[in-house]
Amino acid sequence: AYQVMSLERTRLWAERCLVEHDRLRSPDRPYQALFGVIQGAQYEDLRRTAARDLGAMAFDGFGIGGAIEKRNLTDIVSWVTNELPDDKPRHLLGIGEPGDLFAGVAAGADTFDCVSPSREARNSAVYTPDGRFNLLTSASRRAFEPIDPQCDCYTCTHYTRAYLHHAFKAKEMVASTLATIHNIRFTVRLVDAMRSALERGDFSALREEFLGRYYAGTASA
Ligand SMILES: [Zn+2]
Repeated sequence: AYQVMSLERTRLWAERCLVEHDRLRSPDRPYQALFGVIQGAQYEDLRRTAARDLGAMAFDGFGIGGAIEKRNLTDIVSWVTNELPDDKPRHLLGIGEPGDLFAGVAAGADTFDCVSPSREARNSAVYTPDGRFNLLTSASRRAFEPIDPQCDCYTCTHYTRAYLHHAFKAKEMVASTLATIHNIRFTVRLVDAMRSALERGDFSALREEFLGRYYAGTASA
């Protein structure tokens, strides 16, 4: 009952939001897109109802919200994208790990935002095509090569794993910044690759190849 009530509150809020957004529109300001957020926790009927209700409103796009448990990700996103209009963007909130990005895209999500790449980086964990590894372990102490030799980011083109290992050990602020630059670039290149694969029609092949290598996890060696 609590979920039903809060969903109704979200629906009423969405209606008020659209009215207010319209009222604030002015020719001297650039147009700002307004997205409706689909809630409904892990309940299929609530998610579908919310997507149908908000999907019929004049939003520019939609967010799929709520702390989504990873094991429910594919189901929840599929229910929602199934009901939403095809011609408007779907934004998946709070998803950013490589495996989850593939699951989100496969289920119909277009865009993402997430703290993971920067939070992991602050904890010295970095993404590579061969998996995620931690720069603090001794494996990086004498690794005089970039985090990922294929990566074109500022960090990989200027610093070695050994330097980053030292910077994290010494608690230098720059360590988090450099690792964040890499993780964000890695994530952006990954979704770029997904987009190209979708255009070529071989998304499934990319997914299988990428995740196979990523979870084989030989990166830290
Ligand atoms: Zn890099």
